[in-house]
Order: sequence, then structure tokens, then C-alpha cells
Amino acid sequence: MNQRTLCIIKPDAVRKKIQGSIIQKISDAGFRILGMKMIFLSDSDAGKFYEIHKERPFYKELCTFMTSGPVVVIALEKENAVADYRKLIGATDPAEAEEGTIRKLYADSKSENAVHGSDSEANGIKEVAFFFAEYELV
Ligand code: GDP
Repeated sequence: MNQRTLCIIKPDAVRKKIQGSIIQKISDAGFRILGMKMIFLSDSDAGKFYEIHKERPFYKELCTFMTSGPVVVIALEKENAVADYRKLIGATDPAEAEEGTIRKLYADSKSENAVHGSDSEANGIKEVAFFFAEYELV
């Protein structure tokens, strides 16, 4: 069944100018890009987007990082998109990520780890809707 999932190319990857390579890997893996834009997250939007992590010790650090520069948000669609995309990006900590995954290739650390990916089908829908109106999706 087709699913949606949200990719965010995080500020570390945009700073390194590797967003093109990351988008290529995602496209090569068979994901359709429904919508894509470069934005600068406000403190308020970063706080809301990561609200689920509010009680975790790294919440503030995560929000500061995510507002430290522009990001590219990409709405993706594919059969089994959520699990397949998480497999493509690899573990949160690049030291634990499998060879060939986006985080293994491009992430610097557990916090500055190049990309975001939705963690469930429901969150895929919710997170795409956080950044895109339905009319912005092709
Ligand atoms: P993900 O689903 O693989 O992105 O991982 P999580 O949902 O566990 O964490 C969300 C994001 O918070 C990660 O992608 C990292 O950017 C960041 N993060 C996770 N663990 C840590 C940590 O221990 N310290 C800091 N500073 N950031 C972290």
C-alpha cells in the first residue's frame, strides 16, 4: 500500500551542500517526491514538530540545531515508504548505521545526523501535513 513519509534534510547536510546527493539516493531508491521546499524553521515550528521529544534531555539541543540553518523538507510517497525510508537512512547514530545508508555516508553524529524520517504510517501523514498543504503536493 502506498504510504507517505517526511524527509527533512537537516541543517548540517545543507551546510555541507550535500542535499543534491541525498535527494539522488532517495530518488534512486524508488521514492516519488510529492513536494519539496527549502525553509528556515522558526523556534516555534521546531518546538511543535519535535513536541513528541519534549521530555527528552536533548529536546532543547535538537530544536537549536534544527533552527541553526535552512533545511529541505520533502514529502515522499512509495509502497511501504515509512519502513523503506528508515532502512535507507539507517540508525539514528551513524556509528551504528549500516554501510551504504544515508546516515552512514553523510551524518556526523547522533545529533547532527543529516536527515529526519517519519517513524510510523500515522506520523508520516501527520508530518507531511505539518509542512505541506494538500494543494502543494503533486
Ligand atoms: P530518529 O527517529 O532516528 O531521527 O531518532 P529519534 O526519534 O530518537 O531522535 C530524533 C532526533 O533527535 C535524532 O534524529 C537526532 O537528531 C536527535 N537526537 C537523538 N538522540 C540524541 C542525543 O542523544 N543527543 C542529541 N543532541 N540529539 C539527539
